[in-house]
Amino acid sequence: MERVYNFNAGPSAMPLSVLQTVQRDFLDFNHTGMSIVEISHRSAAYQELQADTIALLKKVMRIPVGYHIVFLQGGGSMQFLMHGANFLKRRGAYVNTGVWATKAMEAAAFFGPIYEAASGKKEDFGRIPEIDAIHLQNDTDYLYITSNNTIYGTEWQQYPHLGLPLICDASSDFLARPVHVADFDLLYAGVQKNVGPAGAVVAIIKDTLLQQARTDIPVMLQYRTFVEHDSTYNTPPVFAIYFVNQVLHWIDRNGGLTAMEIRNRQKAAIVYDAIDRSNGFYRGHAAVDSRSLMNVTFRLATPELEKAFVAAGAARRLIGLKGHRSLGGCRASIYNAVTVEACEVLAEFMDEFRKRR
Ligand SMILES: *Cc1c(COP(=O)(O)O)cnc(C)c1O
Repeated sequence: MERVYNFNAGPSAMPLSVLQTVQRDFLDFNHTGMSIVEISHRSAAYQELQADTIALLKKVMRIPVGYHIVFLQGGGSMQFLMHGANFLKRRGAYVNTGVWATKAMEAAAFFGPIYEAASGKKEDFGRIPEIDAIHLQNDTDYLYITSNNTIYGTEWQQYPHLGLPLICDASSDFLARPVHVADFDLLYAGVQKNVGPAGAVVAIIKDTLLQQARTDIPVMLQYRTFVEHDSTYNTPPVFAIYFVNQVLHWIDRNGGLTAMEIRNRQKAAIVYDAIDRSNGFYRGHAAVDSRSLMNVTFRLATPELEKAFVAAGAARRLIGLKGHRSLGGCRASIYNAVTVEACEVLAEFMDEFRKRR
């Protein structure tokens, strides 16, 4: 079997060595004589795995004291409502950077008043709003942002520090580069973009914010429940957490987040350069100062040409180049596990396709 060059947006490419380890160890987890999916989440073997995962995450992200790390289910979309259920008391402020931010606003609005503190809508979400353009109202509980906008290929380069608790959906750039965790009060990520299979969410919550969480909501919606029960109030998604553990070891072995960022910048430069040298044959959707390291979005002259591009790519084993259905165009997602070589092959293909047309 020959593996393809995988540019899927999520679920997406995973490190080959991790896939091989998972396959090798699948029938016998840690000398238990059982698979990871066959053991109790109350067993010592699982408890050790989860503790190791949290310790590794603290190490890799340099998470300071005063933060809790929990594993949750329901994907990024459950967090769209869970953050509101817990922390929306007076008003929630949102920076609207596209579909995912809008969904978070809609879900949180169920629990109280919310407003758009800034929006990139006028520019087709091709640019992250300037921090100066964020307008906060009185009695605002928190500011909510989406660090990387998977669909549009935009990413915050600097985060807003406006004296309010900062809540961030980092689903599509989690562990792609170092972040200063102390700047955030709640940072969450569905793991299926950059760090594992679908099924688990990692949430990093500052204790001071957790203390303010509402208690008049269902137990399963409270972050407190998962903190107090160490993510095992009910059965956690053990396989996904196990996989995340393996990916964290891979990141740690490969130089941590600093090395991830260097490699991700190198990869992104390779693909963006193919756009920039094309004399408008490929038109990047994101403004240059908002470009994502994870999702490179671009258009060709017509939808027909885009279709031909995606098909010609697939014929060369370049998979997943079709843009999100809400935006159209093309997109190459180049998460941590996508190799430099894959980006070089893509850039070569882009040059070649352009010359042929
Ligand atoms: C994919 C994605 C989501 C949605 O995740 P689900 O797990 O499918 O609910 C949310 N936010 C961002 C930024 C995403 O990229």
